[in-house]
Amino acid sequence: MVVELISVGTEILLGNIVNTNAAYLAEQCAGLGLSCYYQSVVGDNAERLQGTLQMALERSDIVILGGGLGPTQDDLTKEVTAKVLGLKLVEDGHSRERIKEYMETRGLDVTENNWKQALAPEGAIIIDNENGTAPGMIIEKDGKHVILLPGPPGEMRPMFEKSIFPYLSELQPGVIYSKTVKVCGVGESIAETMIKDMIAAQSNPTIATYAKTGEVHLRVTAKAESEKEARKLVKPVVKELKGRFGNSIYTTDTEVTLEKSVVDLLTANGLTVSTAESCTGGLLSARLINVPGASEVFKAGYVSYSNKTKRKLFGVKRNSLEKYGAVSEVVAKEMAKGAAILSKADVVVSVTGIAGPDGGSEEKPVGLVYIGCQVRGESVVKEYHFKGNRNKIREASVSAALGLMRECILQYCSNVMFAE
Ligand code: ATP
Ligand code: MG
Repeated sequence: MVVELISVGTEILLGNIVNTNAAYLAEQCAGLGLSCYYQSVVGDNAERLQGTLQMALERSDIVILGGGLGPTQDDLTKEVTAKVLGLKLVEDGHSRERIKEYMETRGLDVTENNWKQALAPEGAIIIDNENGTAPGMIIEKDGKHVILLPGPPGEMRPMFEKSIFPYLSELQPGVIYSKTVKVCGVGESIAETMIKDMIAAQSNPTIATYAKTGEVHLRVTAKAESEKEARKLVKPVVKELKGRFGNSIYTTDTEVTLEKSVVDLLTANGLTVSTAESCTGGLLSARLINVPGASEVFKAGYVSYSNKTKRKLFGVKRNSLEKYGAVSEVVAKEMAKGAAILSKADVVVSVTGIAGPDGGSEEKPVGLVYIGCQVRGESVVKEYHFKGNRNKIREASVSAALGLMRECILQYCSNVMFAE
């Protein structure tokens, strides 16, 4: 089946907001095995939205519209959809109740235009919005499926996951099953090259690669008559990927993030951790602490931004700073060592780098980052060159630090096993 996406909103058209909804929906639809040939962005303009929707209905089976479901004048997705499909807008009693309840529990007054959100094209399937007031809806007409979703990602995504994803999978004959293999420390182009032959030969299952910061996710999707059969098709492909990527794979569980895999690894091996951060300014410790259960393993997160603090806190040598500079292998190593002494953690990671936009030189360009990892006295420092703006560089540093931690812990554990 063919799906088409229409994002509604002048803000998106002007570039004031990034169309992350379209990226999310396209990825989800691809995972469902739906073909997506067109995506459009239309401003809050009834005439142009009407034209776009009409065209989409001519060439696609499913049209997903996002945004413009709100209470204000410029929200006109529902009105236009009803017009195009030749349906009346009627009030949905259940939605009216929910809106009232939602506003009341938050101590907000219901204004007249809030009731506009209880209107729906006749016969629409109403999807409750658990994180806002505008309900989503599914309208089936003449073999076509039109899906309306709220614009705010915090409302749209949970609604999609809970209601739209199951609806779309039911539309498809057969069952779709997919498994995601998550890889860290391997760049996207290298990962693609490593599986070029598999991608070229694929039909069912298919393999799709998704680049994330410091990670690549490989999604293997199969379609079959039953879930059991689909799983059977996916299994050998995942096995082949495991053979090719080995230890770089940190999980095949959709729910597990890189930081969770690191926390799990620490917990399983009874190891504690501390961080010594400079350019990432606490981002690394924040990501580790985001994982429920991190309190079992996380001892301390230090942020030492100035050279003086690096010396005072971690005992980084004045000579090292003068001779090699704060962004250097030597200083990364001394930071990790100092933080290990201070916190008595088994594993310590240090990050020092140039996030830019200023501060770079020919010898030490923006994006140069040293990450150190010390596991019970044994330390490793790696040099990285990241691209992008300040935030990108900092995020890439955090992912690389998590990847390096994983690598060092695995190495340490296999050495211990070997010694035993
Ligand atoms: P509201 O009730 O908030 O008005 P709505 O369903 O009418 O919701 P819009 O008014 O189109 O949706 O968008 C509301 C907000 O949702 C936008 O300001 C933006 O922050 C976010 N948003 C909308 N569309 C997108 C999109 N395609 N990608 C990412 N964010 C979006
Ligand atoms: Mg709106």
